[in-house]
Amino acid sequence: MGKIAILLLSGGIDSAVALYLLRSRGYDVIAISINYPGRWEREKESARELARLTNTKLIEVDLPFLREVDELWNSEEERPNHLRDAHPSTIPARNAIIYAVAAYYAETLGIETIVAGHNADDTKYFPDTSREFRKLISRALTIGTYIGRARGFRVIAPLSRLSKTEVVKLGLKLGVPFEYTWSCHNNYDVPCGQCNGCLARKRAFDELGVRDPLEEAISSGRDWWLLRKKPGTRP
Ligand SMILES: [Zn+2]
Repeated sequence: MGKIAILLLSGGIDSAVALYLLRSRGYDVIAISINYPGRWEREKESARELARLTNTKLIEVDLPFLREVDELWNSEEERPNHLRDAHPSTIPARNAIIYAVAAYYAETLGIETIVAGHNADDTKYFPDTSREFRKLISRALTIGTYIGRARGFRVIAPLSRLSKTEVVKLGLKLGVPFEYTWSCHNNYDVPCGQCNGCLARKRAFDELGVRDPLEEAISSGRDWWLLRKKPGTRP
């Protein structure tokens, strides 16, 4: 039997690179995209496009209760003490929930590998992206699922030792169509250029001395999202 994995695909850079990396290593991939209210439309659509481009089955799961902490409370002062210093994009117990959802599909489909796109920068801000957490949840799912008891279960993050810049470098080598990825934390049609997501993305491409294909597509009028929104206005 061929290798198969479930990938958590967000439409951002990291999970897109993870998708192409898995394919280059001969994996069949089933992607899961988690839809929650704060998620940006273009990012959701990017996940769909990446799946379409790679012939990957995409399962979309709605989790309407999920909120980022900066939506749950208006200011850091209002947050409960233990979350006061949390990154604004933190979702309470995010990966415990998302890995569990992926484990549902893994058990159902007979797959024992879940892949997350976390990079080395994530571990600075999000405790649920640590290697220790993946190791322990892998152990729990090995004990607590039928597929795990039969074959062992693993939750892995193949990009977890790479910085954002190294992830982009790997993606360029793998031919990732970065114009179909979205990093902006705002629900705009084009990146705002100011938010943490945009700045981290820009830094990565700048450090490599490469122009971001998304920027290139937008400035040359060939951006897939804008073309789709305005049919007939561009060649
Ligand atoms: Zn932005």
